[in-house]
Amino acid sequence: MAADKHPPHYDPENIFAKILRGDIPSKAVYESKDTYAFHDIQPAAPVHILVIPRGYYTDFHDFTMRASKEEIADFWQSVDSVAQKLNLLENGFRLVTNTGKDSGQIVPHFHVHLLGGGPLGPLLSGSDI
Ligand code: 5GP
Repeated sequence: MAADKHPPHYDPENIFAKILRGDIPSKAVYESKDTYAFHDIQPAAPVHILVIPRGYYTDFHDFTMRASKEEIADFWQSVDSVAQKLNLLENGFRLVTNTGKDSGQIVPHFHVHLLGGGPLGPLLSGSDI
């Protein structure tokens, strides 16, 4: 969906929509036609990048249901391009996407956290694995 149109359930005033419009600044890492990647403002790991589609989707499910195959392919290829660009392939990295209430998702625009740059510890805080 074009960025100037949005469905009723999408809040066009969320922070990532403002970043996409250039209304608030961000530190870019990678850009493609349909995808934008930038540094998280509060990094939870030595490398913490947010990868977002330019289209207006609230979360992973919304993106999967409504985005075109082209946007979806571009998105995941961009995630991989960021990992390559930041030299994370050799030592590895983690992808996280919060979806909805139980996950603690704060920003209602679909995003993947790409985390790396050192040992990341357990998958979830308080867990041993
Ligand atoms: P969520 O909890 O929704 O999965 O993650 C939202 C992420 O967005 C958090 O890691 C938070 O630090 C990041 N974030 C929130 N506001 C801003 C901002 O204005 N700029 C950037 N670069 N990141 C932000």
